[in-house]
Amino acid sequence: MEWKTDALMLGAIDYKDNDKLLTLFTAERGIVRASIKGVKKPSAKLNFAAQPFAFAEYVLVEKGEFYTVKSAYLYDGFYPLRSDIERYYAANSVAEVCKAVAPEHERIETLLVATVQALKELAYTDADCVETLVGYMLLAAGEAGYFIDLDGCGVCGGEIEGEPYFDFDAGHFTCQSCGGGQRASVSTYHTLKKCAALEYDEALVRGGKKRALRLMKVFLGEKTEADLSCVGELLRLCEE
Ligand SMILES: [Zn+2]
Repeated sequence: MEWKTDALMLGAIDYKDNDKLLTLFTAERGIVRASIKGVKKPSAKLNFAAQPFAFAEYVLVEKGEFYTVKSAYLYDGFYPLRSDIERYYAANSVAEVCKAVAPEHERIETLLVATVQALKELAYTDADCVETLVGYMLLAAGEAGYFIDLDGCGVCGGEIEGEPYFDFDAGHFTCQSCGGGQRASVSTYHTLKKCAALEYDEALVRGGKKRALRLMKVFLGEKTEADLSCVGELLRLCEE
């Protein structure tokens, strides 16, 4: 049986002599794996469909639980991502986070749209790549059921003033008087609000970018048990 679907290519490993096994993120069935024939030869027609971040319409042949790529039509290869090392690691981090939270064989359309949108922003705009990634991680966390509440103190509902705490179990910040969780920085709180496109205080985001990314890495790493090593690499690479 043939199945035509829009999908984002999140990873490829060698398979048999000349083939590869792709991890494809589809809207209708979440993550599926599909083999693609002959793409280790440089001249293969479908090479583009086995490249990282390829967003394409794939025609898959379905046999039980196995899929084989029959043909593909490329929408976007996000090629500018390869020309800047920070953007490249940010894009790989998006793919890594997506793989960590996306369900297998289950419909999850909004996450696919958000993932493609994040890659577009990284490839074609001047947006800060760490902020784009943090915004994506917040959204992906919410999609996976690990929503982070950024609306003031998660216990008393009051404003966050001074150095807050972050409760990793509950996924919220708490004010100084409520306490609990781990010490966090007010710049982390406001940077997360900025990345989530919420109202934030510009004077308080300074120095918060790497802290916000680090917090999201620990939070999502704990929830999904994923290693998130690309996010770690980006943290080493990027300047505040
Ligand atoms: Zn409070």
